[in-house]
Amino acid sequence: MSKKLTTREEDYSKWYNELVVKADLAENSAVRGCMVIKPYGYAIWEKMQAELDRMFKETGHENAYFPLFVPKSLFEAEEKNAEGFAKECAVVTHYRLQNDPDRPGKLRVDPEAKLEEELVVRPTSEAIIWNTYKGWIQSYRDLPLLINQWANVVRWEMRTRLFLRTAEFLWQEGHTAHATKKEALIESKQMQEIYAIFAEGFMAMPVVKGAKSESERFAGAEETYTIEALMQDGKALQAGTSHFLGQNFAKAFDVKYTSKEGKQEYVWATSWGVSTRLIGGLIMTHSDDFGLVLPPKLAPIQVVIVPIYKNNEQLDLISEKVSVMVSDLRKKGISVKFDNRDTFRPGAKFAEYELKGVPVRIAIGARDLESNTVELARRDTLEKQTVSQDHLADFIENLLEDIQNNLFNRAKEYRDEHITEVSNFEEFKDVIENKGGFVLAHWDGTEETEDAIKEQTKATIRCIPNDSKFEAGTCVFSGKPSKQKVLFAKAY
Ligand code: AMP
Repeated sequence: MSKKLTTREEDYSKWYNELVVKADLAENSAVRGCMVIKPYGYAIWEKMQAELDRMFKETGHENAYFPLFVPKSLFEAEEKNAEGFAKECAVVTHYRLQNDPDRPGKLRVDPEAKLEEELVVRPTSEAIIWNTYKGWIQSYRDLPLLINQWANVVRWEMRTRLFLRTAEFLWQEGHTAHATKKEALIESKQMQEIYAIFAEGFMAMPVVKGAKSESERFAGAEETYTIEALMQDGKALQAGTSHFLGQNFAKAFDVKYTSKEGKQEYVWATSWGVSTRLIGGLIMTHSDDFGLVLPPKLAPIQVVIVPIYKNNEQLDLISEKVSVMVSDLRKKGISVKFDNRDTFRPGAKFAEYELKGVPVRIAIGARDLESNTVELARRDTLEKQTVSQDHLADFIENLLEDIQNNLFNRAKEYRDEHITEVSNFEEFKDVIENKGGFVLAHWDGTEETEDAIKEQTKATIRCIPNDSKFEAGTCVFSGKPSKQKVLFAKAY
């Protein structure tokens, strides 16, 4: 059996990296900053995708696919967006390799095969999509256009970390076009709400909804709405963003529609995305020193059954019982695995499923057959109990719900304990340094103050919370007037 994990207390970041690898979620690859997502990690992503995709479609969106490459001339059309992403773009300049005359058996770029126009590997797809929308939108009848794409993007990040920040990542990006500003604003807020519902209802990860300050906004956006989560080490994670893009992309790509009144108008836009970063957030919200802890709604395996037997005869009897349990559970839509491998002992299997965060483990042995019971262990609390085999599927269905709720409540309690209101900068620094978490403080609304606070404490404005009341006060840093309190934290 593999060595125990480093504990969170010992080294949080090491704990995280070890856990990702040992729970078989992902590993680093031969490409700097790019990860290999392994089957178990990918299965979690597929579950996330399925739920999000359902919610997008329920709200009228359709999926489409656009190219990986963006011609440089299109990329630079919306200047703010281009400028914001320029520093982290991978660019394709050539389209052919040839034998290298100086190094036998090796290849080099064929200098003759230089592309006429360089291609940017998409860091986000507004440019290529809005260039396409120009051909799709002529009249008010073509609006709204509600499109989502599941894709990979590349941002040449310098400091990467599995799932949380990688150079290539998987995500979805919604790109919608509307006739009015009001509609586009409603859409961008609706998608923030959908992300929040997903984070809380499926990931069991509480989030604060809010708007970004100007300096933290998406490049090219007029407003960025975010959901911010809190990790167990007291650092915040931007878990998803939804942007109101105004008419910036419509103007850059000349996308106009003829209104009912026969007037030519620029189209209003939104874009919104969540990525494989969510898996990092999921891990850091719930997991413990024994490994991954998964909320049942996103667990690839919700229930594992481990037989305890001395000989084949016993295994046969157990298997017979288990096949009924498995079919009862599957009828309820519960995913269950019967691990009857004879190459591992029960103890090793227990440790494996603990590490992989399977919410419920059932052990069943010869004695259980006699007493009509099973031993049941829940991953969230590590509690064990003996329960009857009668109505087991009902019992487990309730238990899974209980685990889902318990994980959310536990995370919310931690999060709520880590929102601290402060009234001066001494307190601010003290909380950021010693307690961690979110700090709610008055801010004068200037970038100068924001930068100075970041410089001194590494804390950034995570958001201006949607539910923050307008109450006048004075900025904790500058002492200048402030309209409302905003949420600061150190962040991933
Ligand atoms: P953006 O288009 O910049 O608003 O990004 C959309 C979402 O993708 C963000 O809210 C993050 O959750 C996520 N994201 C951004 N950069 C990365 C990255 N390097 N690795 C993984 N996820 C990312």
